[in-house]
Amino acid sequence: MNTMKGIVVKLAIVLLILVSIISFIVFIPAYTEFADITGLPGSGFFTGPYHDRELRVSLSFDIEDLDDENETISVPLILELLDKHKAKGTFFITGKVAEKNPDLVRKIHSAGHELGLHTHEHLFPLFNKSDAALVASANSKSVESIWTMSYRNQTAFYNSLKANREALIKAVGDINISIFRSPCLIPRWAESPEYFGALNQFGISVDSSYIQDFSYASTVRTITEKYGITEVPVTKSDDILEIKHWGVISKMHEAGQPIVLFFHPKKFEQREIGKLDELLSGIENRYKTVYLTIGDTANIYS
Ligand SMILES: [Zn+2]
Repeated sequence: MNTMKGIVVKLAIVLLILVSIISFIVFIPAYTEFADITGLPGSGFFTGPYHDRELRVSLSFDIEDLDDENETISVPLILELLDKHKAKGTFFITGKVAEKNPDLVRKIHSAGHELGLHTHEHLFPLFNKSDAALVASANSKSVESIWTMSYRNQTAFYNSLKANREALIKAVGDINISIFRSPCLIPRWAESPEYFGALNQFGISVDSSYIQDFSYASTVRTITEKYGITEVPVTKSDDILEIKHWGVISKMHEAGQPIVLFFHPKKFEQREIGKLDELLSGIENRYKTVYLTIGDTANIYS
């Protein structure tokens, strides 16, 4: 009887070991993806299996800083990098920058990239204090300071779009520019009739101002139509280069949605150009990558 008991115990131990090995194999990759989303050292993401199904990638850049010389230095480097990766990007440029530096705008446009509006003065399209409070809490600022930096009414915002477009057209000639990114991104705008009303009235066809939120188990925000405008959500901003949230890439790919990344050339130095290069090479190594401008992305999905 004792040997019988011994065999059962041994079998149970073997079974336990087998179950442990199987769960290790099954759960570790899932854990790694999760770790990548949260920014823990995930590693190895770009050496995973190659995906034949296309990954559409939109690269966008917000150019907005009048005082920062970094933009004039980094933009040509970014253009070179985009050329290297055979990618056309979307550049959202404020009217004031276009007035100050029309050569930079011409350079971007003549390289075949898409131009978008980013307001004339880079103020926030906020029309009430409760929205200002949302932005304030997201940026750890006071409500008053955000409100001071806002357009506050639809007419002021509309006029700013007008001045922005005029400045870009003055630099590059009479082309159609109907893509917009707001100077501050918050989810709440998806419901703001004033915001979309002004964009619609001005003839904006594509807006890319809604940011995906991966901080909790939310579903992926897909490209939608709001007030006659195609909303192309932003997947990640500059911090993807620092915090390496690679997991969001597979999350978007699985959802059949494009990756829309946005960067601030004012924050770029040679080091960041290298990081962006690595990111793009990594994506290309793992996915059948197709680079699209935000306008083209909107056309495909709408
Ligand atoms: Zn901006």
